[in-house]
Amino acid sequence: MIISHDVVIVGSGAAGLYAAYWSSTKADVAVISKLFPTRSHTGAAQGGIGAALGNEEEDHPLWHWYDTVKGGDYLGDQDAQKILTYDAPQTIYELEKMGVPFSRTKEGKIAQRPFGGHTRNFGERPVRRACYAAARTGHAILHTLYENCVKQNVNFYSEFQVVDLIMTADNAKCIGVIAYDLLSGEIHTVHAKVVVVATGGAGRNYAITSNCQANTGDALGIFLRHGLPLEDLEFVQFHPTGLAGLGILVTEGARGEGGYLTNSNGERFMERYAPTVKDLAPRDMISQCMYKEVLEGRGINKTGRICNEDYVLLHLEHIPKAELLKKLEEIVDFATTYLGIKPWEEPVPVMPTCHYYMGGIPTDNDGRVRRSHRDGDIVEGLYAAGECACVSVHGANRLGTNSLLDLVVFGRRVGLHVAKNVDAVKLGKLPDGADQPIVTQFNGIKASTGKERGGLLRRELSEIMMTHVAIRRTVEGMTKARDMVRALRRRYQEGIGVDDKGQVFNTDLMEAVECGFMIDYSLALIEGALLRRESRGAHLYMDGESFDAPSLPRDDANWLKHTFAYLKPDGSVDLQFRQVYLINEHPEDGWTPELIEKMKPKVRKY
Ligand SMILES: Cc1cc2nc3c(=O)[nH]c(=O)nc-3n(C[C@H](O)[C@H](O)[C@H](O)COP(=O)(O)OP(=O)(O)OC[C@H]3O[C@@H](n4cnc5c(N)ncnc54)[C@H](O)[C@@H]3O)c2cc1C
Repeated sequence: MIISHDVVIVGSGAAGLYAAYWSSTKADVAVISKLFPTRSHTGAAQGGIGAALGNEEEDHPLWHWYDTVKGGDYLGDQDAQKILTYDAPQTIYELEKMGVPFSRTKEGKIAQRPFGGHTRNFGERPVRRACYAAARTGHAILHTLYENCVKQNVNFYSEFQVVDLIMTADNAKCIGVIAYDLLSGEIHTVHAKVVVVATGGAGRNYAITSNCQANTGDALGIFLRHGLPLEDLEFVQFHPTGLAGLGILVTEGARGEGGYLTNSNGERFMERYAPTVKDLAPRDMISQCMYKEVLEGRGINKTGRICNEDYVLLHLEHIPKAELLKKLEEIVDFATTYLGIKPWEEPVPVMPTCHYYMGGIPTDNDGRVRRSHRDGDIVEGLYAAGECACVSVHGANRLGTNSLLDLVVFGRRVGLHVAKNVDAVKLGKLPDGADQPIVTQFNGIKASTGKERGGLLRRELSEIMMTHVAIRRTVEGMTKARDMVRALRRRYQEGIGVDDKGQVFNTDLMEAVECGFMIDYSLALIEGALLRRESRGAHLYMDGESFDAPSLPRDDANWLKHTFAYLKPDGSVDLQFRQVYLINEHPEDGWTPELIEKMKPKVRKY
């Protein structure tokens, strides 16, 4: 079947829905999602959304901007980071007006709590910047946006999985997408003037992750196969506090409310590493420190009851039970349900969990997709927003609460840009048999007698990534990982098959397809990580063969640049580069020498 709309948005997390909301003020909009819209991972976001609200004595977008620049270890584009932080307050108020039920202060204002790396007055002390709705901030935002989209007559295609883009041969223009209808097994050609990709995170290629089952990074694989680049993919965030052995997330809000970490000596070790902000240091630092504590023998695992690996402890027992239940109900629930631990009585065992992709589909500040690393080379009619995109505002490490903010600020900007320009975009001509490559591929997988299965290959992949390309990275480990993933790719191409040959809800087939995407973007990730011989943000490169070797320093002279990874048909990766946007190289009126000096890359201390 051929489906036609002015604007097609792939993904119904907060980024996709905000883009849908604003584009639907001017155009006929459809949202395609492989899940029911409100089951998107945005709904799992707990802790909060960052914005410098209130009067200038308390907080200021300038300080938020500075924290984001520093938090990203200076790899973020500073013009985009300015938009993120300066657009934040008005976007939060817009969400409030739409109906997001934020928690309130006694005076009735939007309640805010401290979060890692967010400070007052350029690092002086932690500041309350995270607006929240108890520990279900993402849930509240997602449902409100969904209701508003329904009100605006946005069309929804739920449980439709996009499996390909329709592009002109030179990738200059996007003409639509190919979608697989999970219920009927039909393959649809979706024709549109504008396509917005908002498919979220990709953390399922790591064995321990906080990400939901759907976060398989399909769009990343699709883009690579079309010869389109992905930016800074080597930067993967590990969140410090996953439930030990499971990876289920304990929000940073728990430390924002006074929680702290200890090692086997009962020592608050973060005081040693980050004397000013301690347990509210940024995530890359805390995860790396936790891992170091365990490597040096100060991990805990007395009984083996929780898991096989060592861990550290998160203390919340000093917070009154009533307060814990009010502000962190979900966390209490997770710890009790999954580990049998009552956080008001005993500490919670935690270890880092794969959480967030800083890199992704490269875009300009309006979300328009870059066709290459060259300036101004944009694909017509194609946008990306949210976690799958790289604007880049998070650089080498994202600060907590800045992702929800990225979704709404840039989702909104994309929606507004589309609304303004959609009339001028010409509908591209559909090529004959646009769906044929996918029909052939799917028939091939179903007919295959090959013994490889998506689920099993994916498990192997996630173990390889977790062992060799996680928090500490060595040349040997990454080279091994690359060879192993290349071998997985060959096995996939030669032998992927499915047991379910049916039409209806063939999740077996979709799992096989997703696995192919995961293998491809993992290769781009590993190559970027191998080549980037420095440590920056979440990328900790060891200067030796073992994990306890010292790490390489940050190297601004050679590596203050974005990587652009292009996948070749044989599975090798071509890496190109793009300059980071620094404000000192683009001075504007009103910027004092002091401000420019503040934003210049320097040693990152907390
Ligand atoms: C447990 C957890 C807690 C978090 N807490 C916070 C927090 O407190 N604050 C914060 O700022 N950030 C937080 N984050 C990060 C943040 O929630 C995510 O980065 C963000 O929600 C991603 O939103 P998105 O709109 O980009 O995509 P998502 O919300 O992940 O949605 C992706 C959408 O794409 C669709 N999709 C994917 N592939 C396809 C396909 N092939 N075809 C069709 N549809 C597809 C899915 O169905 C889904 O609708 C948290 C993340 C996790 C995992």
